[in-house]
Amino acid sequence: MKTAAVVLAGGSGKRMHADVPKQYMTLCGHPLLYYSLRAFEDSFIDEIVLVTAAGEEEHCRATIVDRYGLRKVRAIVPGGKERYHSVMQGVKAVSTDADYIFIHDGARPFITQEILERVLSDVREKQACVVGMPVKDTIKIADAEGFVADTPRRATVWQVQTPQVFSADLIRRAYAKLETEEAELLARGVEITDDAMIVELLTRQPVYLTQGSYENIKITTPEDMGYAEWILRSQSPVK
Ligand code: C5P
Repeated sequence: MKTAAVVLAGGSGKRMHADVPKQYMTLCGHPLLYYSLRAFEDSFIDEIVLVTAAGEEEHCRATIVDRYGLRKVRAIVPGGKERYHSVMQGVKAVSTDADYIFIHDGARPFITQEILERVLSDVREKQACVVGMPVKDTIKIADAEGFVADTPRRATVWQVQTPQVFSADLIRRAYAKLETEEAELLARGVEITDDAMIVELLTRQPVYLTQGSYENIKITTPEDMGYAEWILRSQSPVK
C-alpha cells in the first residue's frame, strides 16, 4: 500500500495582515509550514507533494525542504487561484501508483501521528474521510434577513479540518469531473470550500467523518499565532 500527502501552501493569507505569507511566518523558531511537513515526514506517508504560490517554489525548497532535510518531498508545484485549483495541481503531481491521498492545509501545524493513523485505518475501509470534531457551540442557520431560520441538533454538526483523505482513484475521478463541470457549478452559485464537497457533489461516494482534535487548528488570523504558540509550548519540545 502506498500513501501520498498533498500539503497546501498556495494561499495568500490575506486575513493575517502580515508582510510575509502566513506559511512562512515564524512559530517558536520555525516556519509555520515546517510543522505539518515534519509530521508527514515522520509518519507512514511515502511521498509528499508541496503546493506553493506560483513563483515561490524555489524559496520554499531552500528555506524549508532543504533546510530541514525533508526527504519525502517528491515535488513542489505551483498552486492556483482557489484552494481547489491548488489541490488539483497537487493531486496531478502525486505518483500514479499511490493508493491513498491525504490532502492537508499547510496552515494546520498540529496534525498528529495518532490522527494520521486513525484516518488511514478509516479510509482503508470507507474510501473517503474528512477529519473533524463535533462543534462545541450551538449553531444557527441564518436567513437572508439575518433571522434564525433553523437550529440543527448539535450532536450532528461537525467542524471539518484536514487531512481529508481519499482513495487515489476516487479523488482523481472527482477532480477530473470538476475540470469539466466547474463552470456549471459556479454558475449555480456553488461555493467549493473543501475537498469532501467535490466528492459529495460529483460522485456517489459517502464521506466518513473521522475524529481529529480541537487543537488541530488552522492558522488564519493574527490571534491564532498566539494560541498556536501556547499549544506548542504545552506539548513536547520543538524538534
Ligand atoms: O485560505 P485558507 O486558510 O482557508 O487556506 C487553507 C489552506 O489552503 C492554506 O494552507 C493555504 O495556503 C492553502 N491554499 C492554497 N491555494 C489557494 C488558497 C489556499 O494552497 N489558492
